[in-house]
Amino acid sequence: MNRFAFANAQTVAEAAIGASTTVADAMTVAHRAAGHGKTSVLKAGGIDLLDLLKEGLLAPSKVVNLREVPGLDTIVEEDGGGLRIGPMVTLASLADHPLLGGRYAVLSEVLRGSASPQIRNVATLGGNLLQRPRCWYFRSQAYHCLRKGGGHCFAISGENQYHAIFDNTACAIVHPSTIATALVALDATVELTDAAAATRQLALENFFVGPERDLQRENNLKPQEILTAISLPKLPGTVRMAHLRQGEKDSFDWPLADVAVVLDVGQDGTCKRAAIILGAAAPVPYRAKTAEAALIGKRIDDSAAAEAGRVALDGATPLAKNTYKLPLFETLVRRAILKAAIRSVEK
Ligand SMILES: Cc1cc2nc3c(=O)[nH]c(=O)nc-3n(C[C@H](O)[C@H](O)[C@H](O)COP(=O)(O)OP(=O)(O)OC[C@H]3O[C@@H](n4cnc5c(N)ncnc54)[C@H](O)[C@@H]3O)c2cc1C
Repeated sequence: MNRFAFANAQTVAEAAIGASTTVADAMTVAHRAAGHGKTSVLKAGGIDLLDLLKEGLLAPSKVVNLREVPGLDTIVEEDGGGLRIGPMVTLASLADHPLLGGRYAVLSEVLRGSASPQIRNVATLGGNLLQRPRCWYFRSQAYHCLRKGGGHCFAISGENQYHAIFDNTACAIVHPSTIATALVALDATVELTDAAAATRQLALENFFVGPERDLQRENNLKPQEILTAISLPKLPGTVRMAHLRQGEKDSFDWPLADVAVVLDVGQDGTCKRAAIILGAAAPVPYRAKTAEAALIGKRIDDSAAAEAGRVALDGATPLAKNTYKLPLFETLVRRAILKAAIRSVEK
């Protein structure tokens, strides 16, 4: 690990100035070849950032800590009934927060199943959404892969058992945030603030960037910009939701596949609106649009859920070692729909 200065930002503006470049830019071959210059990056809980520093993948001259910036670790109920969550809220405190409860059950579920209790006590929601991919070629100094500005995706014809089954023709990473799967299903939005205190809000789904738009980043965070809030809309009382994940082990690991389902079931028992998001399937949380459409106007029963599970994989292009993900996702989608359908939501 290289030597770097360490500073505690005291305001959002100080923190934004501290993000002289995005971590994605700072990890490119071109940036590193230029001798790193004066690169300062942000630290939240530090779980992912310290890994990148220790692995020699990132060599900033300064690390700016967000822990002392006031107001970034609060959870507030908004006037319209939604929830505004600060990016420095830890995964553990969010999972246990009374305002989450049955209202956003899918989020509680995904939080409690992610990483390990020790990591959840330190890791923050903002850091989780902005963590870099876990692809082992990307995480190895020995491979100058496309995502680091190199010329080749080693996973496409290599060890690709943990990689994408959708949108994997250029770069086959899967998005590392399991929590993003649930947040996209809940129509979460993010607020980004720059050094001049200008803010922009966008749907989390649109904040993420696939390889067709940019091969070197997973989101459109800009230099000198910080994530200042994640907001959840108020949901109608008719909404039902569930999250399911399958991994090689139950904790301390990312899932092989996960699915978040949010259904709006009308008084007549038919599905008015469906969000079905697949995690660990594509470079960004993947919306299974055909499966969503297959549920609209239907009563949610075994046959509707099975059909949605089948069509959720339409358009999949599995790689040599990850075809096992097809039946896995089909089953998870079917079971998550049925699990969501039998639940009611607390208002
Ligand atoms: C063993 C293990 C298992 C794990 N399992 C899972 C899992 O199942 N599911 C899952 O989703 N994750 C999992 N993780 C990942 C873990 O949850 C993330 O590494 C963690 O949430 C990152 O949060 P952090 O606060 O430590 O972020 P940091 O490491 O501090 O930051 C991460 C990135 O975000 C940037 N950043 C942080 N906050 C801001 C902000 N407000 N504005 C702008 N930039 C910011 C930093 O510059 C950095 O680039 C696992 C990790 C480990 C080690």
